[in-house]
Amino acid sequence: MNTIYLDHAATSPIHPQVIEVMTEAMKLEYGNPSSIHAIGRSARRVLDESRTTLAKSIGAKFSEIIFTSGGTEADNLAIIGSAMANRDKGNHIITTKLEHHAVLHSCQYLEKQGFDVTYLSPDEHGVISVESVRGALRSDTILVTIMYGNNEVGAIQPMKDIAAVVANHQALLHTDAVQAFGAIQIDITDIQVDMLSVSSHKINGPKGIGFLYVRTGTKLLPVSFGGEQELKRRAGTENLPAIVGFAEACRIAINSITERKEQYLTYKKRFVEILKHENIEYYINGNLETGLPHVLNISFPGTDVESLLVNLDIEGIAVSSGSACTAGSIEPSHVLVAMFGNKSERIRNSIRFSFGLGNDIEHITIAAEKTAAIVKRLRN
Ligand code: PMP
Repeated sequence: MNTIYLDHAATSPIHPQVIEVMTEAMKLEYGNPSSIHAIGRSARRVLDESRTTLAKSIGAKFSEIIFTSGGTEADNLAIIGSAMANRDKGNHIITTKLEHHAVLHSCQYLEKQGFDVTYLSPDEHGVISVESVRGALRSDTILVTIMYGNNEVGAIQPMKDIAAVVANHQALLHTDAVQAFGAIQIDITDIQVDMLSVSSHKINGPKGIGFLYVRTGTKLLPVSFGGEQELKRRAGTENLPAIVGFAEACRIAINSITERKEQYLTYKKRFVEILKHENIEYYINGNLETGLPHVLNISFPGTDVESLLVNLDIEGIAVSSGSACTAGSIEPSHVLVAMFGNKSERIRNSIRFSFGLGNDIEHITIAAEKTAAIVKRLRN
C-alpha cells in the first residue's frame, strides 16, 4: 500500500531538481567559502548566488540574510539575540499564544532572564487583532514577535497592519514565516518587519537549513561564536549543498505560488464535500479560503485524536494531530485552546491535513473517504 502523504506542513519531500543541484554541489563545491584559493572562491560564488536568490525572494538585500540551521535557530537568534542586544531600551516583549515552540520557549527563557512577556490571544479564527498589538505596546517594549502564518490552523496574520503599528514604536518586529514562506507572497519592502524566519524543509528543500532576514541596522547579539561567517552573527562553515538546495527549492516554490494556491483550494473543497456527502459532523479550524493554502485543520467531535491518527496511519494516510509540532504529542493543541478555550469539544479531536508536492485530487478523495469511514467507525 502506498502511503498518501498529507503532512507537508510538518516537513516535505525534497524536489528532484533540488536533489540534483545538491548532488552537484556536494561533488564540486567542497571548498570553504572563506578560503581564498580557486576552490574556495568557487564555493563563495555559489554561496553568494544562493544568498542572492533567497534575499530577492522576499525583497531583501544580500547582506540581510543570515543562514541558520532552520526555523528554530532563526527564531531563537531573532528573539534572544535582539532582546539581549536591546535590553538597555526596556525589557518587555509581545508575542502570541499561537506561536511555535521555537518562539514560545525562547520567550520563556527570556522570562527567566527577567524579561516581561505579553502573550496575545487570537480570535476564534486564529487571527491576532491589530488593536490588541497596539494596546499591548508599552514604552519599554523592545520586541514584538508574531507568526506570519500558523502551522496548525493556517491562520494568516495581518502583518502589514501590525508592522505599521510597530513602526511608530522603538520595538523591533520579528515574524516566524516558516509556514508562510513559499506558500504566499512575502515582500518586506511592503511589510516593514525587522526580522523574519524561514526554513527550507517546508518548501521541498533539505532539512537543517533556514535563514533569518535581519533588516540593516538592527541590533542583534549572536547566539553562536567562532569565525566571522554570516556577518559575524552566526559562526561556522556554511552548509553549502543545503544552501544551494534551499535556493533551488525557493525558486521553484516562488514560481508556483499562484498555481498551488488554486490547486490546494480545490483539494480543501473536495475534502469537505466528501465529509458532507458522508454526513460527517466536523468543524473547520481556521479559515478554509483565506488561511494558508496548504493547511486544512478539521475537528471531528465524538472521536479522539489518538484513535484517528492510528487508524489513518493503518489506512496509509500520513497526517498530524492538532499539536503538530510537539513530537508525538496528542495533547490538546495550544493553538486550538487559545482559539476556543480548554473546554471546547474541538481541541482533542483535530487533524491537520497538509498538501504539497506529489499530491493529486485522487489522493484527497481517498483520504477524505477513508477519514469519513474511520470517523463513522469511531463514533459507533
Ligand atoms: N516555526 C514554525 C511555524 C514551524 O512550523 C516550524 C517547523 N515545524 C518551525 C518554526 C521550526 O522550523 P525547523 O524545523 O526548520 O527548525
